[in-house]
Amino acid sequence: MNTIQVEVVTPERKVYTGDVTMVIAKGVDGELGVQAGHVPIVTPLKVGVLRVKTTNGEQSIAVSGGFLEVRPDKVTVLAEAAELPEDIDVARAQASKELAEKLLAALESSRESDTAKVKAEIEVQKAAIKRAEMRLTVAKGKK
Ligand code: ATP
Repeated sequence: MNTIQVEVVTPERKVYTGDVTMVIAKGVDGELGVQAGHVPIVTPLKVGVLRVKTTNGEQSIAVSGGFLEVRPDKVTVLAEAAELPEDIDVARAQASKELAEKLLAALESSRESDTAKVKAEIEVQKAAIKRAEMRLTVAKGKK
């Protein structure tokens, strides 16, 4: 089967590199499956699980937004943050989720909940919950 090179990088480090048969990513316009021969594209990514399929199996990577670029010879994921299952600190993700849920509840019941400032803060906490839940999902597949 044809393979394509994939690199998942963050501003801090290279998280994954390998030759894969398929990359499945959560683009802002929906799920995207990329194989060798895919047309060149650049798309923003949602917070979500990136799956790479190799001839030996499948690897999940927690990706907190960023961009995916497909070139003829290579797929690059430039992520704001990305972790392999074994890199995820489950207690930290659980604590982040609980804290964000508490803050969200307080913001939503605040008297100023319809002001632009509080609305923006509500979105920040919702995004934090999404990242934490996605990390917990990826960590469940820890080997
Ligand atoms: P937290 O509230 O725990 O800081 P966060 O969602 O605000 O989480 P990010 O801003 O997305 O964190 O990421 C900051 C850095 O911390 C990145 O390098 C990311 O890979 C790492 N990181 C965040 N959460 C975890 C986790 N649960 N386990 C391992 N690394 C994590």
